[in-house]
Formats: sequence, structure tokens, C-alpha cells
Amino acid sequence: GFKCGIVGLPNVGKSTLFNALTKAGIKAANFPFCTIQPNTGVVPMPDPRLDKLAEIVKPQRIVPTTMEFVDIAGLVKGASQGEGLGNQFLNHIRTTEAIGHVVRCFTNDNIIHVAGKIDPAEDIAVINTELALSDLEVCERAINRVQKLTKSGDNHAKLELSALKKCLLQLSNAGMLRTLNLSNDEKQAIDYLSFLTIKPMMYITNVNENSFDNNPYVEQVRAIAAAEESIVVTICAAVESDIAKLKTEARNTFMAGIDFVEPSLTSVIRAGYKLLNLQTYFTVGVKELRAWTISVGTTALQASGKIHNDFRKGFIRAQTISFEDFLFYKGELGAKEAGKIRSEGKHYVVNDGDVMNFMFNV
Ligand code: GDP
Repeated sequence: GFKCGIVGLPNVGKSTLFNALTKAGIKAANFPFCTIQPNTGVVPMPDPRLDKLAEIVKPQRIVPTTMEFVDIAGLVKGASQGEGLGNQFLNHIRTTEAIGHVVRCFTNDNIIHVAGKIDPAEDIAVINTELALSDLEVCERAINRVQKLTKSGDNHAKLELSALKKCLLQLSNAGMLRTLNLSNDEKQAIDYLSFLTIKPMMYITNVNENSFDNNPYVEQVRAIAAAEESIVVTICAAVESDIAKLKTEARNTFMAGIDFVEPSLTSVIRAGYKLLNLQTYFTVGVKELRAWTISVGTTALQASGKIHNDFRKGFIRAQTISFEDFLFYKGELGAKEAGKIRSEGKHYVVNDGDVMNFMFNV
């Protein structure tokens, strides 16, 4: 699955956001929710297209795609030097595909800010410095190791070394690796090192309930994000948490029937999706209607392997209907009569929203 690590300084609203995220997951009975570890929440990706497909197909079960959020609390100044449980936290981030950095942009005199004042730019610098220092250490160690290999004329080692030297220079100049221009070969050569600052990053600006617009703190974060190719989503964690609580209570009391405004929490999940360049395809059956997550550019063959490796091994072709056609012709039969089912081979690049039916040999 796709994992997003949540980081941020103490008292910025990480736990509040995380609790809201994971509570929101329990909301709909149809949505499978599970907590793998106390600090991990699997959150369904809200997708209105699933509801539209369900109206036509009336499936017994609807399975949305999910994104996994991991609460990586405890990343503080000095973490890369092993302060606190620093290095352990940094290693947690290493296993995630993306990073969500919660930045305090809300004012509240009762809640102490670790640095004594609200200063998003400084907070971001603290966290990014820790990430970069950790990468720097990994990079230097790798260079020492790889340098020896190049002496024996290892060409792959030469490629890796040249990539690592570019990384070293970038990190020494306090740059993030994600903005470094590396060739695909170079990227692949250093992929195994799981650098932190190369991961896609979103800043989650946590604001006061009434200051979503024209918030100077958020503007500050936007400027930083633009320079380092990150994205920004704005939330009010406190309100999200209230909404999430309300839902749980409402569920117990009324069971169904109350409509809530879609929480801005959803924007965090959507942003994670966008950040990772992900899209969705659907499989449609009476038993189960299901959304699957794939990277943009995934072929039919690769997509089939998401469901089952046997699909990939025995792949013959994929019967494909676009989401729009499926809707317009009210299902597979209608689409078929209208000649809107396409037979696609293994190299077909799956489109967002495709309804796929894989034909395969057993
Ligand atoms: P963490 O240390 O980053 O996990 O921060 P917490 O989630 O524990 O939040 C620290 C304090 O800030 C708590 O008392 C929260 O209720 C409060 N808080 C979190 N988000 C907001 C917010 O959006 N607005 C306001 N006013 N307070 C918040």
C-alpha cells in the first residue's frame, strides 16, 4: 500500500490531525478500517465515483482504495544526532512513500509553542535540517563504500558515485534532494538508500478555524513549498477532530441519516494521492465493487498484478470501459451494446477511472 508519514514539531496538532484521520475512517460501515499499529491508520480514499457506480451495479460490498498514515511523533531538533529517539523516528520515515509535515499556523496563547512563537518558516527549517542531516550522513557513508568499488572498474558503481556526489553537493548547500535534477538511471542507482528529502512532501498548515483565507503564516509556507517542489494543504485539526468525534457519537445514537459537510481532512487524503501521482481504476461485480490504486502510467499488465499475481502471469487481455461510458450507458451491458467495451492488450496504459475486467489463463 501507499504510506504517508506525518511529521512535525511538538504541539503543532499532529495527534489531533491523526486522531481525526483515523476516526474518520470508521465513519461508513462499508469502508474497511483497521488500525495496524497504534500509530498507523488506514484511511479510505473518498471517491464519489464509487457511489455512482454503486447506484448502477448495486453491489453487496464496496471497497474503496486506502492510504496509510503513520504518525511519526518525536522528530525534534537534534534527531539526526540521535537526540531523543531521533534516529529511530527518521528510520520510520524511510519506509514511507511520502511525508506530510504538519506546520503550526494557529495561534492559541494556552498552547505553548516549542520555540516560543509561531514561526512556520523556522519550524520548517528545523525539520528539514534534520531530514537533510540524516540524508547527508547516509550519503557520505555510501560514497565511502562505493568509492572502493569504482577502483575495480565497476561501471554501475561509477554511475552511483557520480549521483551520490551530486546529492552530497545539494545537501551541503542545504538543498532538498527532491529538487535535484538526476537522470532516471541515477535515481534508480540511489533508490535503495531511501533518502528522506527525495520523498514527495506536503505541508499541512494547521490554522485557526476562522483563518483559512489570507493567512500570512500559510503564505509563508506556500513560498517555501514552491521553491522546493512541495505542496500545501490547509486544515483546522481542532475542527476536524470535533467533526470526527461527532460522527462517532452520531453513529452510536442514530446509526444513519445525518449528512455532514465533507471535512477538509479529505483534502489531506486527496493531496497525498496527488503527491504520489496516483490514480484509480475500478473492478465492478455484483459481489464487490472495488477501487484500486495505481501510479499514473501503469499498464494493464501491471494493474492486473495489483489484484492477483496469477492475473499478471496468465494475462490475455483487459476488457475496458471508461468511467463516463459505464455511467452513460448504465452499466456493462449498455456499454457493450453501444460498442464501448474496448479490448486492450498488456501495454495499454490505464486511464483514471477505467472499469477493468481482466481475462487470464489459469
Ligand atoms: P502534537 O504534539 O503535534 O501531536 O499536537 P497536539 O495534536 O497534541 O495538539 C497540541 C495542542 O494544540 C492540543 O491542545 C490541541 O487541542 C491544540 N490544537 C491542535 N490543533 C489545533 C487547531 O487547529 N487550532 C487550535 N486552536 N488548537 C489546536
